[in-house]
Formats: sequence, structure tokens, C-alpha cells
Amino acid sequence: MKESYDKSVQLHCHVCGNTKLESNDDKSWIKCHNCGKEYHGGYDELVEFNQEKINQEFEETKEEIFKDLQKDIGDMFENAFKGNKNVKFKRK
Ligand SMILES: [Zn+2]
Repeated sequence: MKESYDKSVQLHCHVCGNTKLESNDDKSWIKCHNCGKEYHGGYDELVEFNQEKINQEFEETKEEIFKDLQKDIGDMFENAFKGNKNVKFKRK
């Protein structure tokens, strides 16, 4: 299993889909470099527009973690019964 499942979701401009965004220091204001759209709700507003993509990314990460977990548990059991001739494990 991996140490970390950090995923960064690139935020897109809601108008043109551009990812080059300009923001002030506390991210309370964001402006798109491409179309000039200003988000006065800042980062939170943009996250709201991107929520669907973020959710999708989260689902994918969840599946990845689950698969890794299953593999780890399989290894654990195999190791626990190593040398025991009565127990055989078959990997699917
Ligand atoms: Zn834009």
C-alpha cells in the first residue's frame, strides 16, 4: 500500500476550461488568464464549479486504495500461513 494518496485536482475556469488562474494571496479572488473571468467568491466558488470533477477524482482514489488494501490483506494471510502445508492460497 502506498504511503500517500495525494491527488491534486486541477481547478478549471468554469467559462473556458483554462487552468491558468491568477489569485490574490488568500485566494478570495481568482481571475482566469484566458478569458478574464473573475471569481469574486474566490477559491471556494471555483471549487464549487469543479465539484463534479473533484468527486470523480475522489471515487477513483477510493477504488485505488481499496484494491491496494485487498492485495495487502492477501499478502498478510499468505505470510501468516507460510510453511503450513494444509493451507494453500490461490491468487485470482
Ligand atoms: Zn476562463
